[in-house]
Amino acid sequence: MNTATITDRVLKAVEEAADEAVAFTSAMIRVPTVNPPGDCYEDCARLIGDTLKQCDFTVDYTAAEGRPEHTRQHPRVNVVGLRQGRHARPLVHLNGHFDVVPAGAGWTMDPFGGEVKDGRIYGRGSCDMKAGIAAAVFAAEAIRRAGVELAGSVEISGTVDEESGGFAGAAYLAQQGRLHASRADCVIIPEPLNVDRICIGHRGVYWFQVTTSGRIGHGSMPFLGVNAIEHMGVVLDRMRRELGPRLAGRMTQVPVVPPGARHATMNLNGIDGGQPVDGIQTPCVADCCRAVFDRRFLLEEGFEATKAEIIGLLDDVARDVADFRYDLRDLMVVHPVRTPEGSPLVASLERGIRTVLGREASQVASPGTYDHKHVDRIGGIKHCVAYGPGILDLAHQPDEWCGVDDLINATKVIALSILEMTGTVPTGE
Ligand SMILES: [Zn+2]
Repeated sequence: MNTATITDRVLKAVEEAADEAVAFTSAMIRVPTVNPPGDCYEDCARLIGDTLKQCDFTVDYTAAEGRPEHTRQHPRVNVVGLRQGRHARPLVHLNGHFDVVPAGAGWTMDPFGGEVKDGRIYGRGSCDMKAGIAAAVFAAEAIRRAGVELAGSVEISGTVDEESGGFAGAAYLAQQGRLHASRADCVIIPEPLNVDRICIGHRGVYWFQVTTSGRIGHGSMPFLGVNAIEHMGVVLDRMRRELGPRLAGRMTQVPVVPPGARHATMNLNGIDGGQPVDGIQTPCVADCCRAVFDRRFLLEEGFEATKAEIIGLLDDVARDVADFRYDLRDLMVVHPVRTPEGSPLVASLERGIRTVLGREASQVASPGTYDHKHVDRIGGIKHCVAYGPGILDLAHQPDEWCGVDDLINATKVIALSILEMTGTVPTGE
């Protein structure tokens, strides 16, 4: 078979499998893998595993033994399927998370019905990202049904807990050496980033808690105490007046979307201090106040400078305000990641998008974070992207849906990328 014939046959096989890919997506939606707390993970892992077995994959299950969130009530079970080609390498790994965020209010459809209507598959997790898992499975399956033998291998994993950090999921598989550079050459994560966009990374995350400590005193004589909430107020004011404009003035060269997220940003997640406002009040000066911040930093900023800037601000306040005492605690640090420039994986997807959709792909980076970080930083696999079906803006929304046309187009693009990245064995060899 020449290349043109192989491409045509694989694309045709994807189209012929369209109904099965839709049905598989609906079946996954009907397993309510809501996180938190992490419901029905094992059921969904088995559903994916059984489907992979039917597609000639060798399947195994990895429970996140030793992780505190892996409990008898809510076991964290991941599934990995391997289909070895002529050789073990190159190996393309497709990773999708099967946990979904809670349905929330505002639905007109059954969030766990998996209903298909007017060319859309509805349900929580339809676009984020059960359709993506179906695209991965049926991309590999279409290659098999087209009678094409791969020179390298394909691996597909379904993992848990992406929505809560992925530590029992993709990170765990990476730590176990299963999602690792020693076995895999590149990774596609079919997250919903829009079907003509390739996501090459994400910004960094720094969650931290600032505690200000004052001195309790009688509320009728507040001058005899030190009010920790007022001190936090000074911190917040400095952040707004000094840090805010600085962050807004920084812009990354990485193509983060939407454009507003190309700047460094910070959000105040929560604040808590003094007496509980619903409780019985007593005349006391607040001696403690805590606030949690979500700072998104740019590749160009780096973590060290990001943290040093916060410490600098707090130390400035300490110089200016009498009796100011603070404590800074890191809650979570995620370093930014970026697929290497000139990555052959990106090029293969760009070609696939041109062939399938007849238009040019664009490269984007995510304002948030996803499992790319674990693949890169724990697994050591640099050639990793997110590419999959579904519209990014619909993720986590009521009446979430994924277009059937998107699902099929993304399946085609992924199939062509697998062909290119693993290579094919000419027939008769
Ligand atoms: Zn997702």
